[in-house]
Amino acid sequence: MTDTDTARKRIDEFIAPFRVKPGSKVTLAHDFDPAFKAGIEKKKRGVELLETGVQMLAEYQARLAAQDTYGVLVVLQAMDAAGKDGTIRHVMSGVNPQGVAVHSFKVPSAEELDHDFLWRYAQRLPSRGEIGIFNRSHYEEVLVVRVHPENLDRQKLPKDTRDDIWQRRYRAINDWEHYLCENGFRVVKIFLNLSKEEQRRRLLRRIDLPSHNWKFSAADLKERARWDDYQKAISRCLSHTSTEWAPWWVIPADRKWFARIGAAAVLVHTLMDIDPQFPAVDDEQRTSLLEVKAQLEAEAPDGAAPDPFEEEQKPAETAAS
Ligand code: AMP
Ligand code: MG
Repeated sequence: MTDTDTARKRIDEFIAPFRVKPGSKVTLAHDFDPAFKAGIEKKKRGVELLETGVQMLAEYQARLAAQDTYGVLVVLQAMDAAGKDGTIRHVMSGVNPQGVAVHSFKVPSAEELDHDFLWRYAQRLPSRGEIGIFNRSHYEEVLVVRVHPENLDRQKLPKDTRDDIWQRRYRAINDWEHYLCENGFRVVKIFLNLSKEEQRRRLLRRIDLPSHNWKFSAADLKERARWDDYQKAISRCLSHTSTEWAPWWVIPADRKWFARIGAAAVLVHTLMDIDPQFPAVDDEQRTSLLEVKAQLEAEAPDGAAPDPFEEEQKPAETAAS
């Protein structure tokens, strides 16, 4: 086995418990433990693992961009204070900002409400070679909108489309993601799974630390009051929209460092699966490169090496041979 095969096997084993099996019926509180840490006892060890993950991501992202064939959409969902922003910041810290686009979705605007429910998300999809991150996503359309149906009233839907609306939306989302996948765009869906008690602790921290006050929103408290309704909506959503082409990954999020390793591992897994390659030049391109090389060498001023770069490389090569 090559090193890559070994790394891949370890990552696959690490993330396997987080995968929502397509077709399974999920009860979040029963099936997934927010405090799970996969036998990684020390945060220090976790930080080392994250560094490895971040480095691997950077390498794969460079190849993804160079190949310019596949795109990756990362969907991040979670309850408030679960660490979505921090996860994005840490996991993507090594990648070239030119190859990544992050979009946060808030309460829809009047213009957005004037379109079909997937419209605004479709406008923000990554291009080929790019990693797009949705901080909240089209899944809000079956989560916050389901918990607060007054949102649905604002969407101006024809009356007859409101029967079985959630089943229809699950189906529309699955079809849309399947379509994206068949067009070369992989959809990586991550749910950061926070416990109610850890959320309480983090909200209090935002109040107690003056430098964190800006993060506190009274709206978060109102949503917290609906905790059980959210857990139910999330469980249903995971049950209906985890598919072979775009499975959900439920990442334990009570420890921030663990959530970050989990998210990085799922993303690395996807990129390893795509296995993007730097484009290779064919014989014809190689020949024309050599022609240009001869031309540039002929332009060398008096006293300059014909190819200064080749000259620089030389001593190292002689030493090595
Ligand atoms: P935050 O991500 O904390 O800045 O908050 C964004 C807010 O926008 C959250 O309260 C979401 O519930 C809300 N939001 C996001 N998408 C939608 C949607 N499609 N319909 C209604 N509210 C939404
Ligand atoms: Mg918020």
